[in-house]
Amino acid sequence: MEKILIVDDSAVQAAQLKAILAETYDITIAQTAEDGLHRASRENYSLILLDVVMPGMDGFTLLKKLQEEIITQSIPVILITSLSDMESEEHGLVLGAVDYITKPFHPPIVKARVDTHIKLYNYRRQVEQQSMTDQLTGIANRRRYERYSITKWHEATRLHIPFSICMFDIDHFKVYNDTFGHPAGDKVITAVAKTVSSHLHRSTDFFARYGGEEFVALFWGEPSEKIFAYLKKIRQAIENLHIPHASSVSKWVTVSIGGVTVIPQAESAYSSYLKIADTMLYDAKRHGRNRVVWADEKMQQLWEKTAEEALNSK
Ligand code: GH3
Ligand code: MG
Ligand code: MG
Repeated sequence: MEKILIVDDSAVQAAQLKAILAETYDITIAQTAEDGLHRASRENYSLILLDVVMPGMDGFTLLKKLQEEIITQSIPVILITSLSDMESEEHGLVLGAVDYITKPFHPPIVKARVDTHIKLYNYRRQVEQQSMTDQLTGIANRRRYERYSITKWHEATRLHIPFSICMFDIDHFKVYNDTFGHPAGDKVITAVAKTVSSHLHRSTDFFARYGGEEFVALFWGEPSEKIFAYLKKIRQAIENLHIPHASSVSKWVTVSIGGVTVIPQAESAYSSYLKIADTMLYDAKRHGRNRVVWADEKMQQLWEKTAEEALNSK
């Protein structure tokens, strides 16, 4: 059941609205704007019905606050105004309310407006979801990555916790396509995405298709040794899929992985660390591919295979 929040200081009025909607929706009532704000930022509501006139914080102020918060700004708000009060309606709509309903309530109209806005909201969420998803693999796409990375980077800076940026690139993939064809190549991209995804368990682990046969992962709050060990396992798991490849690196499809762990400071720029991650990936490629090369918190390089072995495998 979709959740609706009614913010109204009048218990009678809130109960009337609830009676109209309770059959179809899961209704919560907040009797003050403060309580409404608190609930809206913690629960997933699909719609808020908001009374304009309330003692303390009024409906307009709450509407403004909801619009300022990232987690609440997309929830549609319908204002409850009295029939005579056109100015309030105008003001509310300008502030970003999607609609208004007037007192006294005419139940079928209330129900119809609510249904319409919930439908629109769900449609919008679906479109947003699709625009953030890579069609081939079903994982996050570049756009989602761009948004997520900056938000998380700032959060890690504020909390002084390690942040890791990791780039993956399938080895000699052009040769793979040339040998087995583009549709087979697509299957490999999907298989690699699936394998990496299946290894990422924490809610803060993030993984996206960066473009073509490249992927990006972000890790949060773990030191470099741990991430490095983790990625070696993932790299091995991809090799263990035993997807035949005619490249010079291995009989199987492999990936090269490069990245960096940093505890970001206020002056640290995300883009410079992304560049370092890219350089590590380039080093992994240069030194034989199918390996992880990492820059730790002291900007020292960790190699999955020794330089000697790297030289021998060239
Ligand atoms: P390296 O080991 O240095 O990464 O070599 P590479 O051949 O993988 O690298 P390069 O960047 O030269 O080629 C990447 C290839 O990936 C070229 C392109 O045809 C292929 N590719 C990119 N996107 C897709 C895709 O969506 N599907 C398929 N099948 N192939 C793709
Ligand atoms: Mg590439
Ligand atoms: Mg490649």
